[in-house]
Amino acid sequence: MADNDFGYTKWGKDWVRFAESLRQTRPNPQLPSARRMVRDGKVQITFDGRTVRAVVHRGRGTTAITIEVAPMSPGATAEVCRQLSGAQPVLTDDLYVAITDAGHPPRPELVSVDCSCPAAGLRCIHELAVYYDMARRIDDDPRIALHVQGFFRASADNSEAPTPATPRRWIALNALDPAAYFIVAE
Ligand SMILES: [Zn+2]
Repeated sequence: MADNDFGYTKWGKDWVRFAESLRQTRPNPQLPSARRMVRDGKVQITFDGRTVRAVVHRGRGTTAITIEVAPMSPGATAEVCRQLSGAQPVLTDDLYVAITDAGHPPRPELVSVDCSCPAAGLRCIHELAVYYDMARRIDDDPRIALHVQGFFRASADNSEAPTPATPRRWIALNALDPAAYFIVAE
């Protein structure tokens, strides 16, 4: 059965796609289990820049998994800045489409996935659970999708030397105020 609890925003959907590969032809019985683990609160995530660190509880065991996300491309970063330069930046699905249509999809890419379980490297259930948990978090707050790609850091670096033509965008970005927001997961 279809499950729309995860990835109902385009920002979150990108993370569902890591779990549910489009090339996959047969149903993966691990997917419903991974979603259930997320619903049951078995995944605890903390963010460290572009690194997602998770602890997954399953049965009596706990497993540590680390996912590194690639930095957002300069083109996508610039396009997101441009699209967010309005008075009240909100990361809607429409904005996602606009950024994508401009040729710079803000879709994340993963640099590495490292799980401490024996099945690591084979898309283990811990990895799948983290993707779903990320999707759910990002649905709730799409700023996380930008944060894990180093967007705020990159834009902050740029803001130290704003060009006269683009003074406004940095005000808008500051309004997003990522500080002290993404640090802890319960
Ligand atoms: Zn694993």
